[in-house]
Amino acid sequence: MVEIPESHPRRNSLISRKIIVEATKQGLLADSAMIAHGRGEAFDYLLGEKTSEIARLSIKESAARLIAAKHPVISVNGNTVVLAGKSLIRVAAVLQCPIEINIYYRTEKRMKLLYDFLELQRIEVSKEENPLDWMGDWEAAVMSVEILGKEEDGRIEGLEGPRAICSAEGIEKADVILVPLEDGDRCEVLVSLGKVVLVVDLNPLSRSAKMATVTIVDEVARAADLLLEYVIKNSSDVTEWDNDLALKESLKVISETGDL
Ligand code: ATP
Repeated sequence: MVEIPESHPRRNSLISRKIIVEATKQGLLADSAMIAHGRGEAFDYLLGEKTSEIARLSIKESAARLIAAKHPVISVNGNTVVLAGKSLIRVAAVLQCPIEINIYYRTEKRMKLLYDFLELQRIEVSKEENPLDWMGDWEAAVMSVEILGKEEDGRIEGLEGPRAICSAEGIEKADVILVPLEDGDRCEVLVSLGKVVLVVDLNPLSRSAKMATVTIVDEVARAADLLLEYVIKNSSDVTEWDNDLALKESLKVISETGDL
């Protein structure tokens, strides 16, 4: 494998690309994962590959909503697991909420591979030091995070076929769902069921971005690390969030990144 020099200006982006390629080879991701990633990369380039001020605010708002939730859940697809699995396990440990694996092209084999991958990540995270400013028994907090998805005992009312399958204790029961990289259809239905849907999507024009209650227009791994800081700080209240305004702000960031 070719090493990427520390000084390379686009190192993180190249590392993510490699992670996606390797995970696809290992069968963790469907081929279309690369297309989705490529689209994300293009938008990240336009955003200057950094977290904008509006993204930071939407992460803060999402943290407040997850903390205020009765039954929060973090729903992850394949790309999210391989790019931000560990960070989201940390967030789940602090919130003490489940993580549900929910993939578009559901096969038993891929579900098992992703489950085992996430389980391994969880064990690694449990051996880490406490996150900054978090107090308590970290190993116990991490190991008590439930990894859902294999049960297939829940349904998302309003969707047909495999896309409707979920976990009864996870997405079905949840009042607040963090769904990075969600597809527009499912996002729309989840919102219509009265759930608060927090989406992470680099494309401010995607249907999910437009449908969500709060859209974090940022790269999923960067957003997850910052989300951890905000759930630990637990310092803000839920606001009257104007998501359309936030999306317009992200578009403005894109148009200004290109200023020569
Ligand atoms: P929609 O159905 O919402 O209009 P879509 O069909 O454009 O979405 P999909 O292919 O379902 O999108 O999902 C990919 C989405 O995830 C894209 O909008 C892409 O910008 C975004 N994305 C890809 N990789 C990342 C990443 N690492 N971080 C955040 N967002 C990402």
